[in-house]
Amino acid sequence: MCNGCKVKYSDYYSDNIYTWCTNCGNYAIHQALKRSLVKLKIPPYQVLLCFDIGCHGNGADKIGGYRFHGLHGRVIPFAVGAHLANHKMPVIAFGGDGGTLDEGINHLIHAVRSNYNITFILHNNGNFGLTKGQVTPTSPKGLAMNSNPFGLIEDQINVCKFLLNLEPSFVARTFSGNIHQMERVFVDAITHKGFSFVEILQACPTYNKVNTHEKIYSKVYDVDELDDYDPQNLSQALKVSSDLDNKIATGVLYFNKTKKDFYSRLPQRLNRNKALIDEVKNY
Ligand code: SF4
Ligand code: MG
Repeated sequence: MCNGCKVKYSDYYSDNIYTWCTNCGNYAIHQALKRSLVKLKIPPYQVLLCFDIGCHGNGADKIGGYRFHGLHGRVIPFAVGAHLANHKMPVIAFGGDGGTLDEGINHLIHAVRSNYNITFILHNNGNFGLTKGQVTPTSPKGLAMNSNPFGLIEDQINVCKFLLNLEPSFVARTFSGNIHQMERVFVDAITHKGFSFVEILQACPTYNKVNTHEKIYSKVYDVDELDDYDPQNLSQALKVSSDLDNKIATGVLYFNKTKKDFYSRLPQRLNRNKALIDEVKNY
């Protein structure tokens, strides 16, 4: 975050033309992301944006900033590597539900337990969109798609509930139809020190005909609307995060500020102000 910087929304403009389908939730996610970076006064040359493979990843060259577009399911390791090399640069990584929870689920689990100080944003549209509509671990049981015309026989992963059981540092859920909430959640996630996990319930109108904008909108509520909700209470977070069928809790579900992030736990980095990248320059 830059003191005295004047950051404008247009600073994140890119000449490249979006290739997403009409009404895809990704458009609103990019808007909310840019708004949150402007609000935090982070200019494009002071942030690293890391993209996985998937429809969201096709937005990697449609936004300003330092950007990296990597291998399927592997966005977390390279985002973490960049963060450890220069822990002063905010790092935001993006992944889809397929890449993150099929191929890359190991990386997600270890990022939570290591508590690297990066933000991870999950575009959860309940299917592999880029490869034209196959089920993922977040697709609802019974859903018929191109890969399984008789309906999905496996159980669905509720990713927020799953991660809350790992006693994480920060877990939030939001919806691609609510730009204001996404912006607010992204600001909280980026400023939190530790691994910030944000799930976005994202509509994919082309292939996921079950989780439509309208259906998600009719079910979501913000935990801020609850009278006695305490986002620092893990058991409350676990309880509200469980329901994906009737009422879906969104907002910052849980955070723990007492948990030290990975870099702060390293004894060999105690009392050192320089980033690793500065020290490497000497050789
Ligand atoms: Fe968006 Fe789905 Fe189209 Fe991909 S396939 S661009 S997720 S609407
Ligand atoms: Mg997907």
